[in-house]
Amino acid sequence: MPEAPNNSTTDYNTLTEKNKKCLEFIEDVTSNPDEVQLRVLSDILTQNATVEYLHRHGLSGQTDRETFKKLVPVITYDDLQPDITRIANGDRSPILSSHPISEFLTSSGTSGGERKLMPTIEAELGRRTLLYSLLMPVMSQFVPGLEKGKGMYFLFVKSESKTPGGLLARPVLTSYYKSNHFKERPYDPYTNYTSPNETILCQDSFQSMYSQMLCGLCLNQEVLRVGAVFASGFIRAIRFLEKHWAVLCNDIRTGTVNPVITDPVVKEAVLRVLKPDPALAEFIERECSKSSWQGIITRIWPNTKYVDVIVTGTMSQYIPTLDYYSNGLPLVCTMYASSECYFGVNLNPLCKPSEVAYTLIPTMAYFEFLPVGNNDQDQEPNPVDLSEVKLGQDYELVVTTYAGLYRYRVGDLLRVVGFKNKAPQFSFICRKNVALSIDSDKTDEVELHQAIEKASGHLVPFDATLIEYTSFADTTTIPGHYVIFWELSVKGSSTHVPPSVLEDCCITIEESLNSVYRQGRASDKSIGPLEIRLVEPGTFDKLMDYAISLGASINQYKTPRCVKFAPIIELLNSLVVSNYFSPKCPKWFPGHKQWNNMN
Ligand code: AMP
Repeated sequence: MPEAPNNSTTDYNTLTEKNKKCLEFIEDVTSNPDEVQLRVLSDILTQNATVEYLHRHGLSGQTDRETFKKLVPVITYDDLQPDITRIANGDRSPILSSHPISEFLTSSGTSGGERKLMPTIEAELGRRTLLYSLLMPVMSQFVPGLEKGKGMYFLFVKSESKTPGGLLARPVLTSYYKSNHFKERPYDPYTNYTSPNETILCQDSFQSMYSQMLCGLCLNQEVLRVGAVFASGFIRAIRFLEKHWAVLCNDIRTGTVNPVITDPVVKEAVLRVLKPDPALAEFIERECSKSSWQGIITRIWPNTKYVDVIVTGTMSQYIPTLDYYSNGLPLVCTMYASSECYFGVNLNPLCKPSEVAYTLIPTMAYFEFLPVGNNDQDQEPNPVDLSEVKLGQDYELVVTTYAGLYRYRVGDLLRVVGFKNKAPQFSFICRKNVALSIDSDKTDEVELHQAIEKASGHLVPFDATLIEYTSFADTTTIPGHYVIFWELSVKGSSTHVPPSVLEDCCITIEESLNSVYRQGRASDKSIGPLEIRLVEPGTFDKLMDYAISLGASINQYKTPRCVKFAPIIELLNSLVVSNYFSPKCPKWFPGHKQWNNMN
């Protein structure tokens, strides 16, 4: 990275000026969002006037909202799959976008067990950079002086694959970190991280984490903010420190890098930061060897002002753990984004996690909103515009992007909780149909059901059948893991299902889950082994009695396939007779199954 300019007054003035411009931009686009949205839609439709998809739906160059809404349907990924498959197989004609599709971004949302592929174009990188550039000017209004220190962010790249037609397929953040927008970013005190680029770009997740942690420890006094993308990732980093602090301290004491770092580029980058510092090593050792890790973040990085991680949506399950490790530092959710499109920013970042609201930036894409609740299955969905949403109403987000998604249902449910000027602000309610999630995995009930049905086949030779089940995402372990409560009926009291068979059931469930789950287990190690807890006969009747005592209707009661309510989990746990873990990791390969000739 280039050196910091040395004239600090000018530097500060430039920074203030830059911040002012960003805040003015936000003021501007939120003051007339509908005008901006009309312009964005017209730009997208002009740019893509000749694409096959729009022609197919009867659009022949019109760029006005009315015609667009009349002719172009609201769709889901399944509707788009044939076009995506053509592009993946090498069709370079302008199917969705007049600009060449530069790569596919692999979403953590899946279809048929595989990651969804989102087309993207080169210019989208600029739009992502723009959204990132708004975050620190917003933050600096609330926490001044952040330019004086560093951010310790644990950022990672994941493996990439190639489609049969030769396009790269990789997660959006991997694409971003590997782009020049990130690698060649000009010096900016707000993107001054403790992790050298080489450590972030290291493909080996262990070496990447080790080297990032080592640099973060060496620079502990300079760190003013810490974070990762999602809460689960940050907790994994703390867990890593718990396991490896002794060797890390050894490196700090001696100024040498442990041989676990075999990547010469990473080693060299770390050695630029690492200097022998016995006093620091001793200090870290003292803190880490204390029996309690409460407040470990503020103890080791004493100047930290906040923890920058997403704790909205399913990530809210990690708030208590983060509060514990950080001694209640503010948990800051700065942005809301996806592979399809980067959506918006939190303009009040020091608010409580439960009050986080994201302001969609109207220049990012053309946004529409499907009202939730009045969505008759047989009726054509009728989304409203950004300027038409109502306070307190829930909506599913629909986007039209520069990269060639038209009226695409993202699957996120949002609630309007306020306004910035004339632009609505949304709280993130949930991703539709997600029953279980530990990291970026999203497992729905149907998938879970199919996986469990398949696994229960192992019980047949033992005259046992699965009567009922439910599940929960257990985040008390690090990493968290899926827990499935099973009630079995066993014919003939002498029959007994051997533990190894129940372990086979665990691994069969895991093998049947989607590729994001299996990647989390096998490659990222962000999800722990799946656990089956056998419960006493009659447990699910007790569960029903309990639900009815809380007001559930006896006629309508259905066993929940996923439970979150602590008293219910406690009840289930109190009736567990034995438990079994998956004995190995499920199989996972980068890229889609069909690209690897595995079907
Ligand atoms: P991906 O498809 O893997 O790019 O993940 C994008 C999805 O992650 C979004 O559609 C949301 O469901 C979720 N997500 C992203 N940002 C946030 C956020 N700030 N709060 C809650 N969920 C988020």
